[in-house]
Amino acid sequence: MGFVAIGTIPETRYPAPLPPFTNEHEAFRMELREWVRAELRPHVVAWERDEWFDGAVFGWLAEKGWLGLSYPTEYGGAGKDRVWGAVMSEELARCGSGGLAAGIGAHIGIALPPIATFGTEAQKQRWLVPGLRGEKIAALAITEPGAGSDVASIRTRAERVDGGWRVNGAKTFITNGVRADLYVTAVRTTPEGGHHGTSFLVIEKGEGVTASPLHKLGWHASDTGEIAFADVFVPEDHLLGEENRGFHLIMANFQGERLGMALVALGEMRETFEFTVARLAEREKVSQSVRHHVAEMALSLETVAALTYATLRRHAAGQEAVREVSMAKLLSQRANLELQEQCMYLLGVEGVLAETGIERKLRDSRLGPIGGGTDEIMKEILGKTLGL
Ligand SMILES: Cc1cc2nc3c(=O)[nH]c(=O)nc-3n(C[C@H](O)[C@H](O)[C@H](O)COP(=O)(O)OP(=O)(O)OC[C@H]3O[C@@H](n4cnc5c(N)ncnc54)[C@H](O)[C@@H]3O)c2cc1C
Repeated sequence: MGFVAIGTIPETRYPAPLPPFTNEHEAFRMELREWVRAELRPHVVAWERDEWFDGAVFGWLAEKGWLGLSYPTEYGGAGKDRVWGAVMSEELARCGSGGLAAGIGAHIGIALPPIATFGTEAQKQRWLVPGLRGEKIAALAITEPGAGSDVASIRTRAERVDGGWRVNGAKTFITNGVRADLYVTAVRTTPEGGHHGTSFLVIEKGEGVTASPLHKLGWHASDTGEIAFADVFVPEDHLLGEENRGFHLIMANFQGERLGMALVALGEMRETFEFTVARLAEREKVSQSVRHHVAEMALSLETVAALTYATLRRHAAGQEAVREVSMAKLLSQRANLELQEQCMYLLGVEGVLAETGIERKLRDSRLGPIGGGTDEIMKEILGKTLGL
């Protein structure tokens, strides 16, 4: 049976960029899109099957100058603004594997940013510089068995010892958890922990640290790990930011992560939508019902784009955007899941064929409303920003 794979039909090109994007951003978008199509997509089926992508990807991106796109030049970055990073999030989503995009995103989008923002000069030299060269891979380790949404209840304990800390505990659902060389880890530094007793330590892989893979519905190419810390000695100068002020770091980091997730969802939605419309247009007849479904999806897509870009404009301008980020994350992850499901349905058997690629995108999109804070947590934050 013949089939056409997603990613093989030319997509719509956008003639005139609208703010916050400029012609420069759009030229970069097209260059990156071609690169993703030529260099990443051909590997996706194998990497999904192996539940592991080749770590060389980090080096490839570094060589192009894209791994550190929005990081300062003095640490090996390209010094571009947040809007360039947004283009990258959207375009990497077109690689066809949510897991591959997540593995890259976890390194440059959630694990290295706290080092760039809160790290000392020595810490940046030790972890950020090799991280942006793709030589050392980082993971952000906050979630624990029994402490997901309720970050305040983490139990991993760091006790003071001569010259540093001794860490005991476990983390779970950690993206890049198995391959990581370093974990930006939330720990309790007081017996009570919570908002005034949480700190961050950078824990390097070594004695007392073990990591094992978890298997999941989607994001197969990404290694999601469970990490155990058994009497791990962590030197004093591995404290990231201020002691007992870890919550500040968590909150600051969430904004970039959630906006990044909205942009990835938007990229995934666009690709599947364009593919589906192109395939439907080849049919001899399209019913009114199908046309109306497509119209609803177009509406959803543009709503996600409008909210996400409005949020990006605020975020890139350095404005407080907690409400907008929470709304964009909530809306985009659900909308992505619904659109993937709709497209699969409209394409009939073609939609469910593994080779077409939509069934993978549907599985991948199911993780979006959970990772980075669930829908209910987004609603809680939204409610609070509304004074309730
Ligand atoms: C693929 C993947 C990758 C991930 N990568 C990382 C990573 O790199 N680093 C990391 O630290 N974490 C990571 N996570 C973990 C992620 O942040 C957590 O899954 C998320 O915070 C939710 O926690 P939980 O899964 O323990 O769910 P729970 O907190 O146990 O929630 C279960 C259900 O209860 C609901 N619920 C919980 N609290 C409330 C409330 N107050 N009100 C109403 N409903 C509520 C939730 O919405 C959810 O539906 C990843 C998760 C996934 C799925």
